[in-house]
Amino acid sequence: MKGALRCLPSAAAAGPIPPATENLSYSMLLPGGAYCAGLARESVTSLLTRHGLSELGDTAALAASELVAAAYRFTPDREMILRVRWQYEALRIVVYDQHPAHSAPAAAEECRDRRSRSMWLLAAAVDSHGGDWGLAPVLTPGGGTKSWALLHR
Ligand SMILES: [Zn+2]
Repeated sequence: MKGALRCLPSAAAAGPIPPATENLSYSMLLPGGAYCAGLARESVTSLLTRHGLSELGDTAALAASELVAAAYRFTPDREMILRVRWQYEALRIVVYDQHPAHSAPAAAEECRDRRSRSMWLLAAAVDSHGGDWGLAPVLTPGGGTKSWALLHR
């Protein structure tokens, strides 16, 4: 028993990794109903509490709810992905929906403006917290829209 196993970390010394700010990283596939906004709110609040970021809870829950609600308005009852992650000293909440790409640039711009205007509550909450938000088309064959909010401590 020489050599090969020595490079593996000791299982006894490692133990379970507790939730911490640094390892906050979750992705959820949501079925897409209107009720998913409430689910997103509750999930984000719970995750931030467990990972020591409860001071961001109210704003983050509102942001997640608004992102999911906007995705629902533009792609009702279609699956969407909610990602919640602490990275580079900021909380990143991202929603990927299945909104198809518009073939005409003018239609794409109009759609983007319409969605941006509908996210006024998200904009107000995130701006007042010194954060940022935005949306962009997903550049994969499946298409869709990525919308996000970024919050600092
Ligand atoms: Zn559209």
